[in-house]
Amino acid sequence: MSDERRRADGRRAMVARLEAEGIVDALVLRAMAEIPRHRFVAPELADEAYGPRPLPIGAGATISSPWIVAVMAAALRLTGEERVLEVGAGSGYAAAVLSRCARTVVTVEAEPDLADGARRALAAAGCPDVAVRCGDGALGDPGGAPFDAVSVAAMAPRRIPPALLEQVTPSGTVVCPVGRRRRGHLVRWQHGRTESLAPVSFVPLRPV
Ligand code: SAH
Repeated sequence: MSDERRRADGRRAMVARLEAEGIVDALVLRAMAEIPRHRFVAPELADEAYGPRPLPIGAGATISSPWIVAVMAAALRLTGEERVLEVGAGSGYAAAVLSRCARTVVTVEAEPDLADGARRALAAAGCPDVAVRCGDGALGDPGGAPFDAVSVAAMAPRRIPPALLEQVTPSGTVVCPVGRRRRGHLVRWQHGRTESLAPVSFVPLRPV
């Protein structure tokens, strides 16, 4: 079987698994069925790209598991019209998924090498419209604000970084893991209220 056939099969199996795990958001499922996740990892990990685990991408970071990417994107309840900010581009995969569920995506990555890799992978995957910025994502993207939705892919120690809450529209949503030592909770903030969605593990949001 060709690599492409095997990866297309892997992608279908991944989406079926996500549905079995309770992901129902049609935009998210379609995006994940279309985006070549294997292009967001090193070539030697390409065969593992559609498995259930996060994978190393260098600089101590990981591409989040398909389940986490799906849960976070679905938690934003996107309709295709939104302006989205992501913090922690990493491989660029989650930004690619978000870009198929929203109007525009800006993603901020602290690590220059990862930002470069994310740009290349996004172009190769057919998502040239995602803007990848290098810098401290805890500060958001003041020039691009306001955003309808913010997805934070690294764990904030105590609370959602205040600058991000200042950069959402009045009805906007922020999804962010909060906690320490890679143990935390995914929280969703909207209209000033915070709800806990799931226990999660993420790399820390680091000072830049
Ligand atoms: N969404 C990514 C997963 C990213 S892992 C994916 O789909 O692959 C978390 C990322 O957050 C890492 O790349 C890390 O370098 C980055 N990060 C950590 N602290 C940051 C900060 N303060 N600002 C921006 N990015 C940060």
